[in-house]
Amino acid sequence: MPKDRLAEVLERYEAVIGLEIHTEVTATNTKMFCGCPVAFGGEPNTRVCPVCLGMPGALPVPNEAAIEWTLLAGLATNCDIALWSQFHRKQYFYPDMPKDYQISQYDLPFASGGALEVEVDGEGVAQRIDFGGAVAAVGPEAHPEDGGYRATIGITRIHLEEDTGKMIHVGGSEGRIAGATHSLVDFNRAGTPLMELVSEPDIRTPEEARRFAQKLRSIWLALGVSDCSMEEGSMRVDGNVSIRPRGETELGTKSEVKNMNSFKALHDALAYEIVRQAELLDTGGRVVQETRHWDAGARRTSALRSKEEAHDYRYFPEPDMVPFRFEPAWIASLAEKLPELPDARRERYTTDFDLPKHDASMLSADFALACYFEDAVALAGVDRAKQIANWMLGELAALLNAEAIEIGDTRVTPAMLAEMVGLIEEGAISGKQAKEVFADMAATGDAPGAIVAARGMKQVSDTDAIESVVHGVLEANPNEVASYRAGKTGVMGFFVGAVMREMRGQGNPQVINEVLRRMLGG
Ligand SMILES: [Zn+2]
Repeated sequence: MPKDRLAEVLERYEAVIGLEIHTEVTATNTKMFCGCPVAFGGEPNTRVCPVCLGMPGALPVPNEAAIEWTLLAGLATNCDIALWSQFHRKQYFYPDMPKDYQISQYDLPFASGGALEVEVDGEGVAQRIDFGGAVAAVGPEAHPEDGGYRATIGITRIHLEEDTGKMIHVGGSEGRIAGATHSLVDFNRAGTPLMELVSEPDIRTPEEARRFAQKLRSIWLALGVSDCSMEEGSMRVDGNVSIRPRGETELGTKSEVKNMNSFKALHDALAYEIVRQAELLDTGGRVVQETRHWDAGARRTSALRSKEEAHDYRYFPEPDMVPFRFEPAWIASLAEKLPELPDARRERYTTDFDLPKHDASMLSADFALACYFEDAVALAGVDRAKQIANWMLGELAALLNAEAIEIGDTRVTPAMLAEMVGLIEEGAISGKQAKEVFADMAATGDAPGAIVAARGMKQVSDTDAIESVVHGVLEANPNEVASYRAGKTGVMGFFVGAVMREMRGQGNPQVINEVLRRMLGG
């Protein structure tokens, strides 16, 4: 789908998007209501017990740590924490849930009524058609420094439930049930503590949805509540999308989009769905309420199942567990455990390290990137923070992108980057040489000092050594010397090049320039 197709549709229609984000509480080690370990993969049906297999008579025991993590998540997203809460049974029949009900929460979630502010800058700003300075009272707030805007996205609730087992459909395409000959079920995941966050339908563009999910992931990572792997499914984002003609206040019929396994997939699937719905309405059709599956390969959504208006899950209070009453003092003590969150970190990067707002946003938004940055700055010194940031957002980001790896997987450690920036600052190597050193570090994992020594690439800054080379070059080129002295200063580049060649690229360009200017002037 061409990018301008979305822009064209968004001029006529307003998109209304709400997200449902399921995050496995991987920080707890054990499942929600039993002692089985929480881990990804493994031999099927080996991390199970009578409780998570739903055997008759097995009794659930709530995982206190998982509840604490959920309350912390609520506090970190500005939610109110319930002082009185309980689990409910959600009845449905499906082979991945052996009890035939899921222990979840109904009208008394642990956290509710929160909000997150998302910042949109760069290309994504254009998707927000109604953003142009004159915005509604509840609309986005402009921040003119970088032409972007801020929007507040409400959080309806965060509740805790148990994850289901995993169905493996055999014989169909891409493991889907359609066309499968038979299905297998693995209960290793069944009973894993699962936090479900439901946003208000406050999101208006695919870019806002992406930023919201990214920010949430970075908050969860800062808390340490989950490893938040979208690929392995420990963080799963579903989107409810509808569109309505601009100016209309009634909501359109929504579809629910699933199987978005990356932030890019989330953005692209929502963009596709908005355009698909617009094309239906434009041609006199109507949107059907249904669940749709994003196919990242084909770059389109397809109908998974039609969704009835309201499910009858026959919720009732879980009779095997008493309700929870939380003391305000205990919640206050939890709040004191909150670590520094991304917004505060960004603020600190601009004030303590004097980073431009864009750099501070980029580095603080990703928890792993922020830890890397701070480790490197701690070694290199605060006055080199800007150089560290430049290398991270330049060469290092390009490397991660090119190799499609995470920052934790690169061979270039914070210590190596700090050492390299030190070598540049001390004049031992030039910026150009540093790029070679960086490429070498990334390929071999060798320390920059060792690379510089092995390649014999130390930059020569010694004035005497440079003077003697300059002397030779001037003697060999009397005509150019004469024209320089006659006012044709443009031949300077010729001299610098000649000296550099003599020194096999290892001369300090700044010193060479100084010496040349002095000796030519004489
Ligand atoms: Zn178990």
